[in-house]
Amino acid sequence: MSAFRIGLGYDIHRLTSDRTLILGGVTIPHEQGLDGHSDADCLSHAIADAILGAAGLPDIGHFFPNTDPRYKGINSQEILKESVQAASERGYRLVNIDATLIAEAPKIAPHLKDMKAILSASLGIPAEDIGIKATTNEGIDDIGQKRAMAAHAVALLEKATA
Ligand code: MG
Repeated sequence: MSAFRIGLGYDIHRLTSDRTLILGGVTIPHEQGLDGHSDADCLSHAIADAILGAAGLPDIGHFFPNTDPRYKGINSQEILKESVQAASERGYRLVNIDATLIAEAPKIAPHLKDMKAILSASLGIPAEDIGIKATTNEGIDDIGQKRAMAAHAVALLEKATA
């Protein structure tokens, strides 16, 4: 059996005018924010699902159900910390993350360094082991029409040696 396990995560949230935009743990000035039970940080949610999937665990909806009032407004960095912890309890350590955010606006590049610093602290891996890219949807579909943002992520786990 391989010592390595790969996981895939995906998430999408609707944009609304009455919420603060939080991506990768960073509050970003923007006229819209993402709607959701938690802070709706779709980038962090995709990363969490990639980690949980690599460990063979159920998704974040299982661990943090959006019907549970305890998780209302939860900071998604807590979700990431718990996901890494759950993988660790299965004997896996996180090696690296790569993620792509799909958003028509705003520009993400000015915030990448802050996102990587926050994610590094939550995930317990160096910032250089965290990849984040952003792309627009070229005006196509709901994401392109600024009605939603989505994110894809992969995570690599390695069986921890005793
Ligand atoms: Mg989500």
